[in-house]
Amino acid sequence: MAAFRVDIDENRSAWTDDKAPYRPEPPLATDIEVDVAIVGGGFTGVSTALHLAERFPERSVAILEARHLANGASGRNGGMVLNWVNGVERGDPERARRVYEVTRGGIDRIEALVAAHRIPGVFRRDGCLEVFTDPARAAAAALEAEWLQAAGVPVRFLSPAELARTLRIEGAAGALLDPHAGQLDGVGFLRGLKPALLARGVRIYEDTPVLSVREGATCTLATPLAEVRAAAIVLATNAYTPHLGYFRSGILPLHSHVVATEPLSAERWAELGWRGVAGFSDDLDRIAYASMTPGGRLVFGGGSNTSYGYQYGGDTSWRGTPSAGFAAVEARMRAYLPGTADVAITSRWTGPVAVTLSRVPTMGVRGEHRNVYFALGYSGHGVTLATLAGRVLTDLYSGDDAFWRGLPFYQQRLLWIPPEPMRWAGYHAVTALTGKSPRRRL
Ligand SMILES: Cc1cc2nc3c(=O)[nH]c(=O)nc-3n(C[C@H](O)[C@H](O)[C@H](O)COP(=O)(O)OP(=O)(O)OC[C@H]3O[C@@H](n4cnc5c(N)ncnc54)[C@H](O)[C@@H]3O)c2cc1C
Repeated sequence: MAAFRVDIDENRSAWTDDKAPYRPEPPLATDIEVDVAIVGGGFTGVSTALHLAERFPERSVAILEARHLANGASGRNGGMVLNWVNGVERGDPERARRVYEVTRGGIDRIEALVAAHRIPGVFRRDGCLEVFTDPARAAAAALEAEWLQAAGVPVRFLSPAELARTLRIEGAAGALLDPHAGQLDGVGFLRGLKPALLARGVRIYEDTPVLSVREGATCTLATPLAEVRAAAIVLATNAYTPHLGYFRSGILPLHSHVVATEPLSAERWAELGWRGVAGFSDDLDRIAYASMTPGGRLVFGGGSNTSYGYQYGGDTSWRGTPSAGFAAVEARMRAYLPGTADVAITSRWTGPVAVTLSRVPTMGVRGEHRNVYFALGYSGHGVTLATLAGRVLTDLYSGDDAFWRGLPFYQQRLLWIPPEPMRWAGYHAVTALTGKSPRRRL
């Protein structure tokens, strides 16, 4: 049985501000037996629980969350709700259309849940931009937009002049506009779904870290006060998963740094040149991303050479210098949006991203008894993909996975990443020499 270090830090992101005080569900205090035990209460765990409860109302489902719902990346991200799968080439038109349609279905699901469960002010869908800082990459994107449109993918290329009417970004050579992307407040969304989970009989145990997993026809999960016996388990722990002993050689948990500004008025946003778009990301290796909260705050994040901490980068094994990561992000924000020079930063936080070497995530089932379900490694498109994961895993659980076969993330084999200390040394050597994170194509 693999032992887990219980050292997950608390979510202190701007998404937790201005919320009603949160009342967590009590921790698991007595032994239980369930059909499915889900480890982790982020988008993956919650979406899986909801799908299972809708499809199999007679089965018992429990979520075990080390801290509170939306404690991990789901409550700390940049808020961008994007189509596509990071790491997948767009070369083949039919494949591009299919991948786009599948991810668009994931965003439709978010939109439908927000409407069905009346969760106000957490979601907008007025499009996101991929901004190109390099003229050659912008020219390639303009051509790409043409064939993508012909293939049925509704992205549009904006010239620098067109872009300036939507978003004034210093140094931009053009952008791709995806009109079906948007922005989500993950904390508001997942807390807003909690009543629906409870009403459908999903048991939620918060402040309940899973300390170890013993696989078998019935799996046993140890928590501080009690054990869970489950016919199937779901690893919904994304970047934290290596601490449970799984996918240690498959993912690199990197820390992305994020800052949020003070709230800005609509006039101030217009002065900054930001109109009618939910967010943008750039075209650099360490992607910068930004979105505007419903309260008018700018959330801006990105990676840097300090993103990986020794031994799978758990939150307290973090050995980098956080201030350098925040300084890099803040400098990029002020360079892209010079009008923010006098805007105060009022929040700073980090969160773990599970990066695979190819950047392509994986979703599937494993174990001698084929009862350990998993979905992880989403890199930069996790808001959509982790929400989609619930449907993928529930289909797989039901025995009907036909729809997902052939999609790039389905049962994807992860490329091998060496163990520590080679991993840490290799990561820092590559980033220091190239300024880029290690990456390999599938
Ligand atoms: C700073 C940052 C910015 C990002 N920006 C974007 C963005 O703009 N757009 C986008 O699409 N994606 C973004 N992402 C990625 C996206 O947020 C994630 O891919 C997605 O939220 C993953 O969801 P998840 O439920 O799989 O994992 P998580 O949200 O990390 O949930 C895992 C949960 O498991 C719990 N847990 C861990 N170990 C245990 C254990 N042993 N026992 C019990 N519970 C445990 C954790 O507390 C956590 O709540 C960003 C990520 C970060 C960190």
